[in-house]
Formats: sequence, structure tokens, C-alpha cells
Amino acid sequence: EPALVWFRQDLRLADNPALVAAARSGRPVLAAFVLDDESPGVRPAGGASRWWLHHSLEALAAALQERGVRLVLRRGPAEREIRAVAAEIGVREVFWSRRYEPWSIAVERRLEEVLASDGIELRTGNALLAFEPWEIAQKGGGPYKVFTPYWRAWSERGAPPAPLPAPGRLEGFAGKVTGDALADWALLPHKPDWAGGLRETWTPGEASALDAAETFLDGPVLGYAQGRDRPAGPGTSRLSPHLHWGEISPRQLWHAARLRCLEDETRWGRMLPFIRQLAWRDFAYHSLWHFPDLAERPMRPEFERFPWRDDEAGFRAWSRGRTGYPMVDAGMRELWHTGWMHNRLRMITASFLVKDLLIPWQRGEAWFRDTLCDADCANNAMGWQWVAGCGIDTAPFFRIFNPVTQGERHDPEGSYVRQWVPELARLPKKWIHNPSAAPPAVLREAGVTLGRDYPEPIVDHARARERALEAYGEVRG
Ligand code: FAD
Repeated sequence: EPALVWFRQDLRLADNPALVAAARSGRPVLAAFVLDDESPGVRPAGGASRWWLHHSLEALAAALQERGVRLVLRRGPAEREIRAVAAEIGVREVFWSRRYEPWSIAVERRLEEVLASDGIELRTGNALLAFEPWEIAQKGGGPYKVFTPYWRAWSERGAPPAPLPAPGRLEGFAGKVTGDALADWALLPHKPDWAGGLRETWTPGEASALDAAETFLDGPVLGYAQGRDRPAGPGTSRLSPHLHWGEISPRQLWHAARLRCLEDETRWGRMLPFIRQLAWRDFAYHSLWHFPDLAERPMRPEFERFPWRDDEAGFRAWSRGRTGYPMVDAGMRELWHTGWMHNRLRMITASFLVKDLLIPWQRGEAWFRDTLCDADCANNAMGWQWVAGCGIDTAPFFRIFNPVTQGERHDPEGSYVRQWVPELARLPKKWIHNPSAAPPAVLREAGVTLGRDYPEPIVDHARARERALEAYGEVRG
């Protein structure tokens, strides 16, 4: 009688507690993945995420196949599909790793009940986070609402559990079972094929995640504290889509980083700023676990009354990278082309949408959800609420990013803007972040006619800032 491993946000063989537990059960193993766009409350993966998922499943299926295990694909409500597979082949045990979105939690609870009533044993574990959301708690047991004390508590726990090695040998379930072909799911874009930039930029899958982690931990991580705010350079790991899909775990990263410090303890101090970001990720899940409507509603209730504007033209200009603010436009075009955006740009572009245009953060969150390969319910919602000033540990609303000075500070040579907004490439760095203030002769020399080659600013930042502060004044308690 076989054991079933339900793969979810853990698309890897190494450090996969569900797979290891199934291997240890001594039963023949079958693997399954369910594309669930239908369960109540589910937020289906967006376009870029579906592209990633397709390739990641392909890689996972091949890796399992090498070990003699088949990955069965099913589509529909996960509860129904897992139960159906279990019934079809007479599964005795089911193993899976938890997810934490409210709809996923509801699916798991229902599934636990029905499997128990079918007499099937199940085992669940953590493959996605360094620590479970409930493992870090305030003295009285409540959730942390501020990151700094959370980070202290997270660090004081010491090493997260050591990663599990990938099982060497598995006995695959050899019987018949029905499943879909990956191609039938049409996860890849068809007409138009917008995924060229994604293909150029990424190789989804566990092997590539491990390679990217090695490369980063062997060098760039040591300069992370200085390099992380320079979008033009290789300053950050770019592991976010791999982490989101569980092709690599934060535990693997923590221990791989630690291992590189054995001969030189001073390295750890330089690696900590990166480790701290992994704790931010755990903190986002901690927040989502304790506040399940994090992705839908502002954590600060006064923001329910915020006088947002309805501005379709503004949203269109923002999403297409045509606001007339080069740093904003560069970020939005990087996102569209590669399915990823540097963290500094996520903050700048989000601030522009919410504060300069007064468009609700939920619209920006939805656009990111559709266009990011790493779109993640917890991280995305926390990021947007942080920028909008309505989250738990949050930037104050009145701190409004100036897209021009942000550009001058974080892209001082203008090389990031030149890469993504090539129509401005010939502008000297003095004006590249503020073309509308450049003298006409400079623009002429650079071959730029504003309003023709590149838009005039769609809002005046100084005035938009005043307008945002007034709006905020209306809701401030
Ligand atoms: P690194 O700097 O190398 O960090 C390593 C890892 O730590 C990241 O891969 C990520 O998993 C985690 N991490 C880093 N920064 C954060 C953070 N601020 N919050 C939570 N986790 C973090 N991240 C997502 O993974 N998915 C999202 O959908 C997402 N949406 C965001 C939306 C907004 C408005 C903002 C401001 C931030 C968002 N982030 C999101 C967080 C952050 O921007 C990305 O995780 C980061 O840019 C990914 O690049 P990296 O892998 O090179 O990160």
C-alpha cells in the first residue's frame, strides 16, 4: 500500500521533510501536485508565477523520475483531488508540507478530517520557513508586531533545524494512476508570448536554485550590506522565486552560510544582514498566520476610510513604466521584462502608486501578484502595507519617497535607468533621474523630446506629496 507525497510550495528533493518521511515509511512512493484555482478563497497564481511553476514542475518531475518516482498532476480543489488519488490507488499514508495562506489552511483542515475519516494517516511538516509562525512568540504567547524584537527572538533561537539530505533511493509506486499532462494546464503564455525576458533571466528548478545560492554565498553575500541597495549591481541573491516555490529552503541557506564561516568567524557578521532578510520572510508569514486578512485589508483600521482616487490613466502609466519618473519607470519595466524587481525599486514604485497617485495599495499588490515570479501572499502583502503606511511594522505614511532623489542616491551613475529606459540612455547622469528639469540644450544633445520619446511627469511630485499628506490628515486618528 503506497504512501503519497503531496508537493506544494516545496518543489525540491533536498531538505524535504515530506519526501524523507515517505521514504522512511518503507512504502512505495507516489508524488502528486494539484493545480488548485478553485478552492474557496484561493488566489490563483498570476501569469509570471504560472510560467515559473510550469518549469519548476518539469524539473521536479525529472528529478523524481530519476529516482523512480512518478509525479502525478491533478487539477481542481486540492481536497477533492488528493482524496481521489488516495482512493484510486489505496494510499495508506499522506505526507505534505504546510502552506500558510488562509485558504490553504482551510483546505488542510478539511483534508485532515476527510483523510482521518477514510482511515488514512497523515504527516505534515515545515519545508518553507526557518521557523514555524507560532514558534516565535512574545512572552505572553502573542504575535510580534514589530520586526526588531521579532528578529531578536528569531536570532536567539540559534540554528534552525539542519537540512535533510535528499533521499538517495526511493521505491516508486508502480501501479496505474490517472493524471494530467503538464502541457494541458497551459501555464505558459501562448499568444502573445510575453515570457522571452523571463526565459533570458531565469532557470527555474532545484538545481539552478542551489547553483544560485552557492554563487551568492561564495562571494557577493559578503558585500550585501553595501550592495543591497544598488539595483544596477549583483548586490542581492535573486533567490526570491526559488524560495517562494520552495526549490531551496531558508534552512539550507542558513546552514550553507554558517558553514562558510567555520574558518573565519568574522564572516558571520557580514552575512547577518542577508540572514536578517530571511527572518523578514519568516516575519511576513508570522504576520499572515496571526492576521489572515493581511493581503486584503489594512492592518491599521483608519486606512479603511482613506480617500483613495480612482485614476485609470495613472494606473496604466504606472504599470507600463510611463510615469515620466525614470526610476519608477525603470523598475516597472524591469518587472514586466524579467518577472522580478529589485527591493529598492519595489519600495519606490509602490510609494509612487500609493502616495503620488493615491491609488489603493491593493491594486498594486494585484499587479505585482500577476507579474512577479516570486509573487508571495505574505511577502507581497507585507511589502505593500509597509510602503502604504497601513501595516503593522510600517514606514510612517508621511515618509514619501521622492523618486528623483531616490534615483540619485541608489543609482548615482544612472546605469540602472539606462538599462531599462534606453530612450534616456544618452542623458548625462546629472539629469538622468530628472529629465523634465534638464535644460533644452541637454535634452536636444541627448536626442530626447519629452512628450514624444519619453513622457512628461504625469504628476508634479511636490504637489502630489502635499495632496497625499492632506489625504492622510483626513484619516489620522
Ligand atoms: P535578497 O535581498 O537576496 O534577500 C534574500 C531573501 O530574503 C529573498 O529572496 C526573500 O525571500 C527574503 N526577503 C528579502 N527582503 C524581504 C522583505 N522585505 N520581506 C520579506 N522577505 C524578504 N518578496 C517576495 O518574495 N515576494 C513578493 O511578492 C514580494 N513583494 C514585495 C512587494 C513590495 C511592495 C515590497 C516593498 C517588497 C516585496 N518583497 C517580496 C520583498 C523583497 O522586495 C524581495 O523579497 C526581494 O527583493 C527579493 O530579491 P532577492 O531574492 O535578491 O532578495
